[in-house]
Amino acid sequence: MPIYPPHPDPFDCAICGKVRPLQWQDPSHMDYPPVCWRCEQFGWRLGPITRKPDMRLAKQIAALAEALDEEASRKIYEARHG
Ligand SMILES: [Zn+2]
Repeated sequence: MPIYPPHPDPFDCAICGKVRPLQWQDPSHMDYPPVCWRCEQFGWRLGPITRKPDMRLAKQIAALAEALDEEASRKIYEARHG
């Protein structure tokens, strides 16, 4: 049984902008800033769903990197075609 960090204060997800976490939430699916559970696990095709805290941190970093890459690509496209 992993030991989970404490319930975080509310925050806006850095990718989808939703306010998280919800008042009641399963600790194994808890949202941790700066990315919500859904963006962390499902948003960017980052491999199998995992609840292990160290793997979750790696997925958060990968999700943020993908989101930045996506935004940068869009801005480059807009600059060239805008
Ligand atoms: Zn999100």
